[in-house]
Amino acid sequence: MSSAPRFRFAPSPTGFFHVGGARTALYNWALAKRLGGTFVLRIEDTDEARNQPEWTQGIIDALAWIGVRQDDPTFQGPYFQSQYAEAHVEAAQRLFAEGKAYYCDLTSEQIQERSKTNGKQGYDGYSRDRGLEAGPGRVLRFRVPEGQTIVNDLVRGRVEFANETIEDFVLLRGNGSPMFLLANVVDDITMRVSHVVRAEEHLPNTPKQQMIWDALGQTPPVWAHVPVLVNEQRKKLSKRRDKVALEQFRDEGYLPEAMINYLMTLGWAPQGETEIVPWSTIERDFKLEDVNHSPAFFDLKKLAAFNGEYIRAMSTDEFFEAAQPFLVGENIPWTPAQFDEAKFRAMAPLAQTRLVLMTELPMLVDFLFLDEPLIDEDSWNKTFGSTDGVEMLNDAIAALSTGLDWNHDSLKLCIEATGAARGLKLGKAQAPIRVAVTGRTIGPPLFEALELMGEEQVMKRLRAAAERLASA
Ligand code: GLU
Repeated sequence: MSSAPRFRFAPSPTGFFHVGGARTALYNWALAKRLGGTFVLRIEDTDEARNQPEWTQGIIDALAWIGVRQDDPTFQGPYFQSQYAEAHVEAAQRLFAEGKAYYCDLTSEQIQERSKTNGKQGYDGYSRDRGLEAGPGRVLRFRVPEGQTIVNDLVRGRVEFANETIEDFVLLRGNGSPMFLLANVVDDITMRVSHVVRAEEHLPNTPKQQMIWDALGQTPPVWAHVPVLVNEQRKKLSKRRDKVALEQFRDEGYLPEAMINYLMTLGWAPQGETEIVPWSTIERDFKLEDVNHSPAFFDLKKLAAFNGEYIRAMSTDEFFEAAQPFLVGENIPWTPAQFDEAKFRAMAPLAQTRLVLMTELPMLVDFLFLDEPLIDEDSWNKTFGSTDGVEMLNDAIAALSTGLDWNHDSLKLCIEATGAARGLKLGKAQAPIRVAVTGRTIGPPLFEALELMGEEQVMKRLRAAAERLASA
């Protein structure tokens, strides 16, 4: 083994990229970067039904989105498990030749039948000494030695397994194809992997895999099993029940930097007061020894808060750049001709303070570009369902028509005073104006928005709203 550590990420293609996989990939990546090692991507594609080239591309794209980039010299691969089948079978045959594995012809029904009478759960080692050769339908089983297997895990500590609790497991199926346990180890040996950092669900496989490493005369890798991710009910994240696809978060407007930072904190915490730290700090400080082994809560609210923080931390120019993809596309209510870049530039810093997701951006700025606001009827009914709302709107129209300086300070003072005359606090007083002008109760800071829109447009909208209310 060369001295530079070699990490690997070995996903099975499933058609989408699980956030847990993303966390595992990032842990491996952070370590490979810090230690000047290598990150090997191996696609475990031996399940042929699941062997679709576009899924591999999906994995590569998802990794690139979280900064694990193929064009970085730390990155090696992708390698495809299916291309190493010969090496898997060769290793199995070596184990057979050395008496460390044996063939067995029992069907699963026969195994079940036997366990009814011999009191053993699962396979009882029936063919250990029968001296069977390879043949159709015969599986190759590993001869589990006596004693115990000790797995030293950087996250879990020392984990002991009594070998008598581990049955002689299958290496090659009856059709000669390699099982996951074997293929995974042989590939790790071939790829000179020094550290196996992976999800906790693989811990039960580890004693078996360590036995295979030993039996093949290899020093096992450093193991680290990182904690399972759970939802609010403390149940393991599942793709049927929970939102787990990284791609979905990407498409919903989460920033990769926020996602990366949040994923890293699922089982690990940066030192210091805040968990919001740049990648350079993560890369400098992340250690497996500091990873916690209790289940990590994948908290969508916390992720959203991280995202908002990252959005607010951007410079105006960065935000302007990051906003571009979210200003075009099917769901954008304005036409390209209606879009006014100067107005957007002026509004962007205001919108930036209110965003949690980038996908919310169009809703915060659309009123600037449309001829008429898109009225959200719930907001309308809530605001104008009371006489207060209607009268406040009429009072505001009168007050704003007195030739005041059209800037946000005087607009605010005017609405504040108009509201106060009716006994309304500013929040209540400004709601009818916001709904009339922007169409919604939620939006960017109002008075700055009114200034930016200009007197003529604002007054037109206020009057249109008043007319709609009068004719209702
Ligand atoms: N292909 C396995 C999985 O996706 C990974 C096994 C490993 O990391 O060793 O769960």
